[in-house]
Amino acid sequence: MRQTVLLDWARNLEAQADDLARLLTLENGKVLAQSRGEIAGAISEIRYYGGLARHIPGHVLEVEPGVISTMLREPAGVAALIIPWNAPAVLLARAIGPALACGCTVVVKPAAQTTLLTAAFMRALSDVPGLPPGVCNMVSETGHAASARLVESPLVDVLSFTGSTATGKRIMATAAETMKKLSLELGGKSCCVVFPDADITATPARIATTAARVATAATIISGQQCTAARRVLVHGSIYDAMKEHLRTALAAIAVSDGMNPAMGMGPLIDTAARAQVQGQVERAFDLCDEVVLRGGVPDGLPVGGAFLTPSLVAHGDTSAFFCQEEIFGPFLVLERFDDEAEAVAKANHTVFGLSASVWTTDGARALRIARALRNGTVWINDHNRLFAEAETGGYRQSGLGRLHGDDAFADFTELKHICQNAGCVA
Ligand code: NAD
Repeated sequence: MRQTVLLDWARNLEAQADDLARLLTLENGKVLAQSRGEIAGAISEIRYYGGLARHIPGHVLEVEPGVISTMLREPAGVAALIIPWNAPAVLLARAIGPALACGCTVVVKPAAQTTLLTAAFMRALSDVPGLPPGVCNMVSETGHAASARLVESPLVDVLSFTGSTATGKRIMATAAETMKKLSLELGGKSCCVVFPDADITATPARIATTAARVATAATIISGQQCTAARRVLVHGSIYDAMKEHLRTALAAIAVSDGMNPAMGMGPLIDTAARAQVQGQVERAFDLCDEVVLRGGVPDGLPVGGAFLTPSLVAHGDTSAFFCQEEIFGPFLVLERFDDEAEAVAKANHTVFGLSASVWTTDGARALRIARALRNGTVWINDHNRLFAEAETGGYRQSGLGRLHGDDAFADFTELKHICQNAGCVA
């Protein structure tokens, strides 16, 4: 039954995938190709959890001769899911998928900015004939009262929140009263660590290619993705070349209406978010060692759209606020290192631990650095790749628990121990 509901929901969504992608671009501003990719990813993830609904394993141990301990995963109960606006389709799917697959009931609270997209997803779910009444619910609001109520309520057993670390901390403090389970997917400050020993950086053309990929990693959803590249640590021997190519690659990103198929970057979510990012970026311009690319509000674009072109600064001191704080927009910091130990120390100098990438074709080095970085996800020669099957989550202040993959069941189930003396004689 749970599998059938999830598969039927995916089919309903697929029938309107293009309309959903357009709605996502209209509400969020991201470019249409990214919206199409996100809707397809969300549908795929719902199917993945439809399959996993039939495989929620526990385990059995014979703890003493004849004494059998059975560990079973049971649904945790009512799960409240607070979903952000930056990737509202896929971030809904990765939370509601495991919650429903393992038998929880849910209350979904979308971000005000993307309520219509979430409502369209939930409508397609409520259209599934086999869905029992009351299992899936949605509450929308422009303020935070309903969210706060869900966090406080003793009737909610699991609170799954994707959003900023600051709000995550408030949720954690409030939830202490009821000791509900918490699944917290929070902010990040992802580093790309670029070594000189790779083929990809061996020639000027290869450096340009790497720079273009890092620029794309930094400007995905206009820099409003939790895993977006925020700091680029580059070995001294290729630092100057990388700086030049990154400046060129970021300056070449076309910024305009997300419905325009030629665009690389749409607007930020709203003008309030842009004002905040712009303020942080301008403070960084004043304090950094070098402004490499001075982004700003472009001319000639629709009034009311929160457009902001990318910025790049170079800086040496990792304790600067713009190396430490998450700036949720198209802003990148270039830093230099001279050996592996310095690269790791600089990359790990952060309270966050969401994701990072290592750029090298030396396989042993790639693994060595990946293990040394204190992050929930590390990509090698890539960035921002997320899969339904692969768990993601944060070390340190980037969160608690894991979503995607089958580990997500840990966030929405309780483990019950049933102990039985089978009366056997050893
Ligand atoms: P935010 O922290 O401002 O969250 C806003 C949401 O929190 C709204 O739904 C609001 O109703 C709710 N809220 C506010 N105060 C609350 C309270 N006291 N109790 C309960 N709920 C409350 O974040 P945002 O701006 O919507 O999203 C951007 C952030 O999300 C960034 O920090 C980004 O890194 C993070 N993010 C993380 C991931 C991840 O997987 N780790 C994914 C996407 C986004």
